[in-house]
Amino acid sequence: MTDDINPLHFDTLAIRTGHQRTAEGEHGEPIFPTSSFVFKSAAEAAARFSGEQPGNIYARFTNPTVRNFEQRLAALEGGESCVATASGMAAILSVCLGLLKAGDHIVSSRSIFGTTTILFERYLGKFGVETSFVDLTDVRAWEQALKPNTRLLFLETPSNPLTEVADIKALADLAHAHDCLLVVDNCFCTPALQKPLQFGADIIIHSATKYLDGQGRIIGGAVVGDKEKVGTDIHGVIRTAGPSMSPFNAWVALKGLETLSLRMNAHSRNAAELASFLNAHPQVEQVYYPGLESHPQYDLAKVQQSASGGIVSFQIKGDKEQAWKLIDETRLLSITANLGDTKTTITHPATTTHGRLSEEHRSAVGITDNLIRIAVGLEDIEDIKKDLARGLDS
Ligand SMILES: *Cc1c(COP(=O)(O)O)cnc(C)c1O
Repeated sequence: MTDDINPLHFDTLAIRTGHQRTAEGEHGEPIFPTSSFVFKSAAEAAARFSGEQPGNIYARFTNPTVRNFEQRLAALEGGESCVATASGMAAILSVCLGLLKAGDHIVSSRSIFGTTTILFERYLGKFGVETSFVDLTDVRAWEQALKPNTRLLFLETPSNPLTEVADIKALADLAHAHDCLLVVDNCFCTPALQKPLQFGADIIIHSATKYLDGQGRIIGGAVVGDKEKVGTDIHGVIRTAGPSMSPFNAWVALKGLETLSLRMNAHSRNAAELASFLNAHPQVEQVYYPGLESHPQYDLAKVQQSASGGIVSFQIKGDKEQAWKLIDETRLLSITANLGDTKTTITHPATTTHGRLSEEHRSAVGITDNLIRIAVGLEDIEDIKKDLARGLDS
């Protein structure tokens, strides 16, 4: 369901897509907690198994609630096909298993989710898939890292935690000129603020754990793209290897999608206000937020994103000790590494989300010991500012 052929707008698609009402006439989307599906006859069972007749067989393959979530997210990203997964990491792994083979090469942004780096280096490396890491914003470095066996370019934009913004169109063009695919992890913006497929990306990754659910209740993930790669190759991995999304988690995430653009715009408003507050504070060395005019990719972010998102990072004057002290002095903010929740969270990336990376990797991506990341929630922003001001002013 793309925007070209479907006249409905984003918020309507977010609320209406994918529910096939049952004979009960329910208004709300049902959950189908069933592991298998029954057939009217042996012949129908055979036809389903052979693929001659479409339909449900077993919930590792398909489930109506999961499909409801998949169709809704595909509509929002403007993609042909979506498959849901048990987690965001399962989404990334399934893309790699579905599209790569031993001997292939990935070029990835160095500034990605820490666990994704480990998946690429430690685990895919074991199976003969090699990854080169480059600076997200340096298109020439991406080009120089390409090899004859490069198949995927992988990035997040804005990046975590420093909110650098990639030029999606330039990197999609580069990928296509070299017969590669561009994979974008769209976790930070969600389709409410950014639709990478419109800029030429081929595959979208989501951690539904974050803003798609938006209330910190589930672990889930998804992949969006075309029918052949996502609907066939990547779905094939999920139905065979089994990192499928549970119907309950799919239901939570699909109800989350209904308020996605309301929430993303509210997160962005709060984050923009917090970023200016921190930017003006004498104890703050530097603030990283794409909505600040001082951000190096401020203009690019304006083109690609309809708002700046909910993640603000900053370096305080001092070192790890001062950073930890500021975190410990908050009373309202939650000290947790999760993001994309209604509750504001505060993290010290160098010793948590990015703690398993080598020191060189960390310093190459600029994750210093005085860096703090805030995933701004939906509380009243005055209370968030006050909670941080106590530590900053003392
Ligand atoms: C959290 C996260 C992931 C991994 O998702 P899980 O649901 O935790 O497996 C991947 N990419 C980004 C950008 C994330 O923030």
